[in-house]
Amino acid sequence: MGVNTLELLADLYIGGAAVAASDGGRFDVLDPAAGQPITSVADATVADAADAVDAAAAAAAAWAATPDRERAEILRRAYDLMTERAEELAGLITLENGKSFADARGEVAYAAEFFRWYSEEAVRARGELLRAPAGGNRILVARQPVGICVLVTPWNFPAAMATRKIGPALAAGCTVVLKPASDTPLTALALGQLLSEAGVPPGVVNVLPSRRSGAVVAAMLSDPRVRKLSFTGSTEVGRVLLAEAARHVTNTSMELGGNAPFLVFADADLEAAVEGALVAKMRNGGQACTAANRFYVESAIAADFAELLAQRMSALRVGPGSDAHNQVGPLINAEAVAKVDELVRGALAAGAEALTGGQRGDGCYYPPTVLRHVPPDAAILTEEIFGPVAPIVEFTDEATALALANRTEHGLVSYVYTGDLARGLRVSEAMESGMVGLNRGLVSDPAAPFGGVKQSGLGREGGHDGLLEYLESKYIAVQW
Ligand code: NAP
Ligand code: MG
Repeated sequence: MGVNTLELLADLYIGGAAVAASDGGRFDVLDPAAGQPITSVADATVADAADAVDAAAAAAAAWAATPDRERAEILRRAYDLMTERAEELAGLITLENGKSFADARGEVAYAAEFFRWYSEEAVRARGELLRAPAGGNRILVARQPVGICVLVTPWNFPAAMATRKIGPALAAGCTVVLKPASDTPLTALALGQLLSEAGVPPGVVNVLPSRRSGAVVAAMLSDPRVRKLSFTGSTEVGRVLLAEAARHVTNTSMELGGNAPFLVFADADLEAAVEGALVAKMRNGGQACTAANRFYVESAIAADFAELLAQRMSALRVGPGSDAHNQVGPLINAEAVAKVDELVRGALAAGAEALTGGQRGDGCYYPPTVLRHVPPDAAILTEEIFGPVAPIVEFTDEATALALANRTEHGLVSYVYTGDLARGLRVSEAMESGMVGLNRGLVSDPAAPFGGVKQSGLGREGGHDGLLEYLESKYIAVQW
């Protein structure tokens, strides 16, 4: 592995050119495994944001008019290029994010699939034609690109959260300004370069690393030419951006925080449930919005489940992602470690028992941890942990399990393990979440509508739904 064949890009990417920040500002990008700077990148200013919107605006008409097939072919080339360079891109993701190399490889494959899926969807932005029910006229519905889009992404999937937005935006005929997380700007810059090589014209995709995120994004949202905001990140920041988007009634898609319950009924295949738990908990070392945050296990099997999960968790190899044998990397930064540590210490103080882990490691490392007998009101169950910690709570009946699972303002994903299909579907229907993993610990799929209900978000990414987020319906009442 390595990033040797991949040039580290360090400037803003506006209108197809690499440019410095207008005030010359730069900021360091850290390798969380070593705690050392990798390089520095340009720190976009409000003036740079205006330039990026100008570039996106200048490219908008020609891109929207480009035949769908041509846009599709460009996205397909982007998929091919990402697949060819998967190892280098994975190395870059591991370098700036810290995730294990296996996780980074998985992310590149997943991220590239959004380009392939939306290369296929680009030619399927179908409209509708129907007869008005009262007779007389026709109802013609055309789909048109929503316009200039601002895309804001988090650090936990530096490639996939970007391609999940860029893919459908480009397929729909929109031009974009991407503001990546400041912990992980390098992958986003590499994607901008790769898209240009794939044939994306200058100005269609602009990449703006910035540590002045609040000011830069607010400036773009105050520009009435920007018609769409797609944000992935915390619910807290999402709320702020929704308020900013209100000013010009900007169209928004919001993929926000989660607090996924993982239910295991006594009739479940225990081995499969433990395997699924490991996947749902440990992808990205627990730093996923879809991460199982709370395990509710029926009393009859709770001790066995906890024991088996603890065995599997304690066997995971923790260390730098640059060694491909390691399965769990460091957390993103020192703040993240402090937060996980505080939640675990709170649970332990309230009477929980650590079957494995439970104490922070060196640097940004936190060991895989399983907690049993966690009191139902512990903060670790109500807050997003974003680390490799599995708190387990026992339940005795289905109604209680459901009530506990739904007792949250979040509603991104839920996991249910049971051997009874009727129960599985009944419980899945009753879950207040946008997605359910039924006897499965992984739901993410570019072909499926990903997203949350309640305070986990608005809109869907992936699937055909994901394309519609970047299209407006134009209704034409026709008389002929
Ligand atoms: P975050 O703090 O909300 O940041 C997300 C993005 O917003 C970053 O690019 C960040 O830039 C930017 N940002 C921060 N404050 C802003 C402001 N006032 N105005 C405009 N932009 C602002 O989230 P995070 O810590 O990076 O990521 C973790 C969160 O993302 C978790 O809650 C997780 O559940 C959620 N997430 C959700 C999904 C989903 O699909 N539902 C997927 C992945 C992650 P800076 O980096 O410069 O601060
Ligand atoms: Mg943050």
